[in-house]
Amino acid sequence: MSAPRLEIDLDKIQHNARSLVGRLAGVGIAVTGVTKATLGSPAVAAAMVRGGVRGLGESRIENIEALRRGGVEVPTTLIRSPMVSQAARVVAGATASMGTELDAIGALSEAARARGLVHRILLMVELGDLREGILPGDLEPFVRRVLRLPGIALQGIGTNLACHSGVVPGHANMTELSDLATSIEADCGVRLEVVSGGNSANLAWALGAGDKGRVNDLRLGEAILLGRETLQREPVQGLLTDAFILVAEVIESKLKPSRAWGEIAQAAFGDLTLAPDRGELVRTILAVGRQDTDAAGLTPPIGIEILGASSDHLILGTGRRRLAVGSEVRFQVNYSALLRGMTSPFVAKVMRKRAAVVPA
Ligand SMILES: *Cc1c(COP(=O)(O)O)cnc(C)c1O
Repeated sequence: MSAPRLEIDLDKIQHNARSLVGRLAGVGIAVTGVTKATLGSPAVAAAMVRGGVRGLGESRIENIEALRRGGVEVPTTLIRSPMVSQAARVVAGATASMGTELDAIGALSEAARARGLVHRILLMVELGDLREGILPGDLEPFVRRVLRLPGIALQGIGTNLACHSGVVPGHANMTELSDLATSIEADCGVRLEVVSGGNSANLAWALGAGDKGRVNDLRLGEAILLGRETLQREPVQGLLTDAFILVAEVIESKLKPSRAWGEIAQAAFGDLTLAPDRGELVRTILAVGRQDTDAAGLTPPIGIEILGASSDHLILGTGRRRLAVGSEVRFQVNYSALLRGMTSPFVAKVMRKRAAVVPA
């Protein structure tokens, strides 16, 4: 089988989605499955849909188009504020999009009207993480202007925390979001169907004690794909953390001194950490590198350490053990390693579903 490759267990992804959908349904929250770390993989999306997610979220319209081409039929939401230059593609391809700028929503309105479509908008509110969002004090006049735009339907409001500044979703900010929904409805005479509380970082809040207020949607990527919450990166109970495995092939394995010799300047990526002298160790090189993954996000098998990575080489310390050239080493991946692997044309993707192996 070709290497490097990501082996993707679709049954595990389905299991994770089903488990989260079931538990969150108990507190009145539906799940939007986020596929953006998979380059909009229709197979991964279909596994999430089998697991019960009610729609899909994607950060790029190109990926939403890939989902549609791949036969995905559930509603899709563009979860990054759209570019004006892509407005026509967004209204044609996505059911809804998250918005924070009137100029962009105006462009979507024009594009939707030109095609005789209605495009749904979820307005994102800034609650302290300082990435996207309308400041709470600006929301009401913003909503009034959105409601006047033809071709646009206001679906609801949402927020996104823990992405840029690590702000923890909890009782205070979720209550603020709920209260905003209620006051917008009262002041503007609209019904907000969706109140989207956040991402995988919201799980501790959502599955913990306490009222969930108006929040009735979470957008979950990492928790479904990798089985972890994202505040401490702890495994979520009952979820599987190994749905994705990166496999790479050995191209050299030799006993060498552990300390470099000669005059020392910068290395390929500038970063210079001179290894301590630990005598002679087997250094094993895999044909995988920064073009394929994020070495810092790989978990090697027990007894193997990662010594470094350049564009095309991953250097492992394998102790006294020489690995056969042509043999393979398997790694668990974190989100960054997964994202890089899924978007690298050099990494094959091999999907497994109930004993069937389907290259994609
Ligand atoms: C990426 C993203 C998500 C999903 O985040 P996870 O941590 O993978 O659950 C949700 N909402 C927005 C706006 C995002 O950009």
